[in-house]
Amino acid sequence: MRPATATLDLAALRHNLARVRAAAPLSKVFAVVKADAYGHGLARVLPALAGADALAVACVEEALIIREAKIDKPVLLLEGFFDAEDIAACAEHDLWAVIHHPSQVDLLARHPPAKPIRVWLKIDSGMNRLGLAGDKIAVCRRQLADNNAVRKDIGLLTHFARADDTADPTTGEQLTRWQALTENLDGERSSANSAAVLGWPESHLDWVRPGIMLYGISPFVEGCGRDAGLKPVMTFKTRLIAVKNVQSGDCVGYGGAWRARSATRIGIAAAGYGDGYPRHAPSGTPVLIDGMKAALAGRVSMDMLAVDLSGHLNAAVGSEVTLWGDGLPVETVAAYAGTIAYELLCGVTQRVHFRVFD
Ligand SMILES: *Cc1c(COP(=O)(O)O)cnc(C)c1O
Repeated sequence: MRPATATLDLAALRHNLARVRAAAPLSKVFAVVKADAYGHGLARVLPALAGADALAVACVEEALIIREAKIDKPVLLLEGFFDAEDIAACAEHDLWAVIHHPSQVDLLARHPPAKPIRVWLKIDSGMNRLGLAGDKIAVCRRQLADNNAVRKDIGLLTHFARADDTADPTTGEQLTRWQALTENLDGERSSANSAAVLGWPESHLDWVRPGIMLYGISPFVEGCGRDAGLKPVMTFKTRLIAVKNVQSGDCVGYGGAWRARSATRIGIAAAGYGDGYPRHAPSGTPVLIDGMKAALAGRVSMDMLAVDLSGHLNAAVGSEVTLWGDGLPVETVAAYAGTIAYELLCGVTQRVHFRVFD
């Protein structure tokens, strides 16, 4: 069996959920599990999320995985329904729908579900992505309140553009605008993503919506999850399948992008961009060989990558290679590759073997 493996530590996930509770003790928790639980596998992580009050996903297809797992917690669709079929699914499977645009209010009026559904009105407080602004808020809210196919407990939510930078004043400005836009409206309120859970206590309100921190990753622009008391859930590992000696001046890999400055031992690890390891990770990106730091050498291939084994005298075929996770924050690898941990986690591919530890 090819050794590229992602191990999932469900005890770490429970620990991270407890960390959310400790940071926002008065709020209910939507555990955000969109994009296959940030690449971890939705069905795999659900057993560790029994302590959440509700779950949040991007679409009905994701919500149905939760229902197939016989979990009857509320499930929030973060972008609401996309068509009439989705509206029917909200009623059938008890899904809560975000309403972010007047077109959704119209669709709901034209395709009333079989029983009333719960909706959450999304307010644009300054991110300028999804949400209602200005007088559209009151108009849509009135239309929803008059629609018998909508439950009376309409919720309110908004989203922050820059909560990951606690020095940036934008989040405070968004909160002020959101308070002004919603002060005369009843309903439960929700605004905080992971960064706001940890960095903006005044944003916690009735419900928080943590995603990335559940998986043990720092939501902030700098630092890693451990700084915030989080534990990584996924560790992505493989093994060396070849070791060789190259001479000074020899090049390694596609494009000859790495050249030996002296005689060097090179290890070839069985993982590449076909497994979700970022092709843009440059030479020098850290990996762990049997727990000790080493550096990538040359371009990442589809199925393999090369490692400079200088100083790793015991490294041999079969040595364990940690690509990220326990001992090597995915945040670090993401920074080398010019991306964010969210993208690396979501990008782990189907051919990687997953192992779940409880
Ligand atoms: C993805 C998402 C979240 C969770 O964000 P994290 O940064 O992963 O905590 C919260 N709210 C909305 C609307 C989202 O789309």
